[in-house]
Amino acid sequence: MFFLTSRAFAPTLHSMDDFFENIVDTAVKQAGRAAKAGEIPVCAVVFDPAEKQIVATAVNRTERDNDPTAHAEVLAIRKACRAVKQTRLPDFDMYVTLEPCPMCAAAIAFARLRRLYFGAYDVKGGGVEHGCRVYEHAPHLSAPEVYGGIAQTRCAELLTGFFQTLRGGAK
Ligand SMILES: [Zn+2]
Repeated sequence: MFFLTSRAFAPTLHSMDDFFENIVDTAVKQAGRAAKAGEIPVCAVVFDPAEKQIVATAVNRTERDNDPTAHAEVLAIRKACRAVKQTRLPDFDMYVTLEPCPMCAAAIAFARLRRLYFGAYDVKGGGVEHGCRVYEHAPHLSAPEVYGGIAQTRCAELLTGFFQTLRGGAK
């Protein structure tokens, strides 16, 4: 389901400055905490590239909130909009540890986020590079620039570890 590929458009190591590393670290750590709470470990971060600061972070809360729409991306968009008191986020970027699903891909477009950086590819549930490829098939949506496969080894390991534990800890 979550697998590794090498994609030419992923940012190179040269573009991974300290802020980038910091964001990825934050996302991976928070996603790990979500796993301990029984949530699929996904974390989304809204980042202000002008101020170089994180505006909002969120992890999945579907199990804890009994809410199938409580995906990390949707929650991070809500938090960020509240924090900056804006309805849309055209000057902000989203980093997320897993390829967004179709619902979140659409929400990211509605939020007008500038760029989307995601970690692991999700062959089964993704809606950006897989499945219905929301941005390719909905030209009326305001699609972000997409950079898939960032820190994908770390992001994919989070998920494979989580599902191994669910299956009873088998390696
Ligand atoms: Zn989603």
